[in-house]
Amino acid sequence: MSYTWSDFLDECKRCTACSLSGTRKNVVISRGAIRAPLMLVGEGPGANEDQQGIPFVGQAGRLLDLLLKAYGFSEDDFHICNIVKCRPPENRVPTAEEAKACMPHLAKQIRFAKPKIIVLLGKTAFKYFMNNDEPIGQVRGRFIEKNDYLIFPTFHPAYILRNNNERITLWRDIGLVRAKMEELDLISSLTDIPKMPDGRG
Ligand code: URA
Repeated sequence: MSYTWSDFLDECKRCTACSLSGTRKNVVISRGAIRAPLMLVGEGPGANEDQQGIPFVGQAGRLLDLLLKAYGFSEDDFHICNIVKCRPPENRVPTAEEAKACMPHLAKQIRFAKPKIIVLLGKTAFKYFMNNDEPIGQVRGRFIEKNDYLIFPTFHPAYILRNNNERITLWRDIGLVRAKMEELDLISSLTDIPKMPDGRG
């Protein structure tokens, strides 16, 4: 019998590969479509995500959803997840060991999602996914070809909540992702020019 998505979920829920398993309430795996042309990868679950077992359901997630929706994305178009699936205590940044322990899960998840474009939200996602410590402000906003994927680093929405002057940058970056998806026939074209929303979602 082949390894199914439900097998994968069970495996993640049983995981004790790092010490975050000792403090989690829930393993936080994905939101959106299982298979999707676009994958968005954040850092790790916060308190709301840990409570609900769903990624990006807190303030940062609401802002992300607001921007994605304004660009006409639906939940069928994307698969949202994180570098680590269990909440780091006090919302600290996941350690290299934790990220490494969780990476085999993320690798399997990518095989299920089969995305063409992988958006890395913020420095931590970029660092651990690309094994590269460069500042996100220097690497964001362009596509990097890797193993047949187009990797696209950009700011984390939590950063935008603290630095609203950079909202336009994240907005334009998501616009570049959308334009690329249209170019590759991964999503239908928009008829109207979307307008950047200014709320927090
Ligand atoms: N921040 C993240 O990086 N991931 C989440 O799931 C929520 C907030």
